[in-house]
Amino acid sequence: MQQPMANPNINLNDGRDVACECGNRIFMPGFRFKKFSRLLTGQPNDSILPIELFLCTACGKPLNELLPKELKEEASAPKIDTNPVL
Ligand SMILES: [Zn+2]
Repeated sequence: MQQPMANPNINLNDGRDVACECGNRIFMPGFRFKKFSRLLTGQPNDSILPIELFLCTACGKPLNELLPKELKEEASAPKIDTNPVL
């Protein structure tokens, strides 16, 4: 297990548990992969970028707090429907 903070003055009991929106506090590591077209990157092949995230062991949702900013926005902003006319 990695310790995010290596400060010896910090007592674990002083920290707040990060909890999922469902209330669960246990997470497991997972990966998302972003694929970038070679047309976009100029590389000879498509490139794949792994993004590590942590999944709630109870409901399986990624822990939003630890997501990269870009993905967080994507998750929180609802996709605009491109229906032509209502
Ligand atoms: Zn959960």
